[in-house]
Amino acid sequence: MKRETVAIHEGYTKDSQKTMAVPIYQTTAYDFGNADFAADSFNLKQGSDNIYTRIGNPTTSVLEKRFAKLEKGSASLAVSSGMSAIFYSILNIAESGDNIIASSQLYGGTTTLFTHTLKRLGIEARFFNIDNPEEIEKLVDSKSKGIFFESLSNPTITIADIEKIAEIGNRHGLITIVDNTVATPILCNPIDFGIDIVVHSASKWTTGQGLAIGGIVVEREGLWKKIDGNPRYSQFYTPDESYHGLKFTDEVARDALFTFRMRLILLRDTGAVLSPFNSWLFIQGLETLPLRVQRHSENGLAIAKFLESHPKVVAVNYPKLESSKYYELAKKYFPNGANGLLSFEVGDYEKAKKIVDSVEIFTLVANIGDSKSIITHPASTTHQQLSESELQQAGISAGLIRLSVGLENVDDLIQDLENSLNKV
Ligand SMILES: *Cc1c(COP(=O)(O)O)cnc(C)c1O
Repeated sequence: MKRETVAIHEGYTKDSQKTMAVPIYQTTAYDFGNADFAADSFNLKQGSDNIYTRIGNPTTSVLEKRFAKLEKGSASLAVSSGMSAIFYSILNIAESGDNIIASSQLYGGTTTLFTHTLKRLGIEARFFNIDNPEEIEKLVDSKSKGIFFESLSNPTITIADIEKIAEIGNRHGLITIVDNTVATPILCNPIDFGIDIVVHSASKWTTGQGLAIGGIVVEREGLWKKIDGNPRYSQFYTPDESYHGLKFTDEVARDALFTFRMRLILLRDTGAVLSPFNSWLFIQGLETLPLRVQRHSENGLAIAKFLESHPKVVAVNYPKLESSKYYELAKKYFPNGANGLLSFEVGDYEKAKKIVDSVEIFTLVANIGDSKSIITHPASTTHQQLSESELQQAGISAGLIRLSVGLENVDDLIQDLENSLNKV
């Protein structure tokens, strides 16, 4: 089935009520009926998947199946935010004394997680420039556990050479993790290019209306072959003491081993669970995601072209502009559009501030991926916690403005920007 059909139907089997909409199973727990069935459920034998909503819920399960299929993966786990999806994907592979290798061009929250919070847990992040993935080679050692990067980065709008990074990861037996939030599962599927794990903040284009916080981790089919016997990942194939000696590479678990371990160990013990109501909101959003992302991409390109032609704009970052240094990579990885995220440079802090303060349709918000157009000044908001050198490394200057182009009429949006630019 094609993605538009998957986005509407995948993962939902109607129960006796035959409701067309996926029901919201707003419940904490489930009736086991008898002691044997309860024991089998807890033992992961023939019982039920429904034990306790912290580790699984039927509404959330529809979202997980649908998202996994859209990303061409074999299984997925939904969690309470994009940040917890990223954190769990790292905790699943690394512990104190280990290191991960990450791109410098990352979402601000991911940068602080990697440089400060993981450090306090004893996990070191080593950074490479997304434009030079060869740098990864110099950073790998026996304690390296994964490579992390963004396919289309927020807010610097860089495009990664996904296939090249997957190849380096494979050569070193390293798990590759990509944050595919800005690409959405509609514009690019990194698993097609050999990536192992795809994470998303569902808080952005998935509902598309800025309604809820959530995150998803998707794994590719056959990942167990890379993990089984690999000295970097012994926790997956040595018996787990906290789960009666379960091995995640055993046949029962192997097609979902990465997300299965996250669910059984990390969700069980640390509990960043997605609420069934939020799962339901994401399911509604997915139904129209292919349509919306197409329009976001068309509007994004039209605005990028307008800005590029404006004398007060110093530079525009949008990969679908022929002038972009990512144009060739965009052709390969984003053949159908590059969504509505773009940034432009106006020269200095004061000019950026004036524009941000004078637009009328664009709203100053620390978010992206809404049907309502959003303007952000990263240096004073989302990336404020980064040091001067971290900002420079991430390619963010004082005069950089980020736009998340929404679904309003594009002529109105262009007029709004034109009016503001004329004031500086
Ligand atoms: C927003 C965002 C995140 C964090 O997701 P939350 O759902 O806000 O926790 C991570 N990565 C990228 C690229 C994002 O845009």
